Amino acid sequence: VARLALKVDVDTYVGTARGIPPLLDLFDRLGVRATFLFSVGPDNTGRAIRRIFRPGFFGKVRRTSVVSNYGLRTLLNGTLLPGPQIGRKLGHVMQAALRRGHEVGLHAYDHVAWQDRVAERDRSWTLNELDKGMDAFHSALGTAPSTIGAAGWQVNAHVPELEDRLGFDYASDTRGERPFRPLTHRGDRARCVQLPTTLPTLDELLGTVATDVDDLVRTLLGLTEDASRDQVFTLHAELEGLRYIDCFERLLVGWRNQGHDPGRLQDNYNALDVAVIDAQRLGWTELPGRTGRVAAAHLETSLP
Ligand SMILES: [Zn+2]
Repeated sequence: VARLALKVDVDTYVGTARGIPPLLDLFDRLGVRATFLFSVGPDNTGRAIRRIFRPGFFGKVRRTSVVSNYGLRTLLNGTLLPGPQIGRKLGHVMQAALRRGHEVGLHAYDHVAWQDRVAERDRSWTLNELDKGMDAFHSALGTAPSTIGAAGWQVNAHVPELEDRLGFDYASDTRGERPFRPLTHRGDRARCVQLPTTLPTLDELLGTVATDVDDLVRTLLGLTEDASRDQVFTLHAELEGLRYIDCFERLLVGWRNQGHDPGRLQDNYNALDVAVIDAQRLGWTELPGRTGRVAAAHLETSLP
C-alpha cells in the first residue's frame, strides 16, 4: 500500500478556529489520521491573506469576496488591529487534534513574517523565529512538535542545520518528487530528512488547469493513479476545512479506491530506509499556478 501523507497547513486564526473542527470530524468519520502543522504566534495576515495563497486565486475563483470567506477581522489583523496570538487563544482547538490521534507539528510562529522574509534573513533571525514557535507550540499543546513544515515553502540555507539542532527527524519544507537529506550551509548532510510535498495544492490547480471542483478532483486523482509511489499532499484548514471540504472528502475516498493509505508524515517517514536517502543541496523552483519561488532539492538554483 502506498502512503499518502495529509499535511494540513493552518495559517490563520480563522483557519484554526473554524477550519480545524470540520476536518477533525471528517477524519474521524473516515478513520484517517493526518498531520496538522500549526501557526502558533500572532495572526498578522491582514491584507497579506491573498499572498498566503496564490495571488489572483481569490479574484479568479471566488464569486463571493475574500471578506465573506475570512471575515473582516482576518483582513484587519496585523493592520488596524493587533494580530491575535493564535496559540494562546485557540490552544484547545489544537489540543483536540492531538487528542483525536493526529500528528501535530509547527508551521510558523508568525506566518506572514516567515513567508515574506526568511529567504533574506540570517541565522539568528531564523533561530529566533523557530525558538518563539517552539515555545508558543509547547505552551498551547503541552508537548513538543514532532515535525515542522515551513510557511509558504520558504527557507534559507540555515534551516537544515537549525532543524537538526531542534531535534526533528523529518520536515516538510520543500516541493519535489521524493525524500532527500538536505546539505547544511557547511556542506554536511543534515540528519533531518525532507519529505517534500509531491502533489499540487488546491489553490494552484483551481483557476489554472482546473476550471471547477469536478475538474480539480479528476486532475488530482489522475496524478495519483500510480499507487506504488508515496505522496505528500498539502491542504489548508482555510480552504479544505471550510469551503472545499466536500471536494476534499471526494479526494480522500478517491485515493483510498486507488489503493493509497492517507495518513501522517510520520507514516511516510517510518516506511523509509533512511540509510539510502540521497543528499541534495536545497534550491528554489517555480511551479505552475504559484507565483514566486519555492524550496526544492537542488534543481535550477541553490540557495546562497
Ligand atoms: Zn502556510
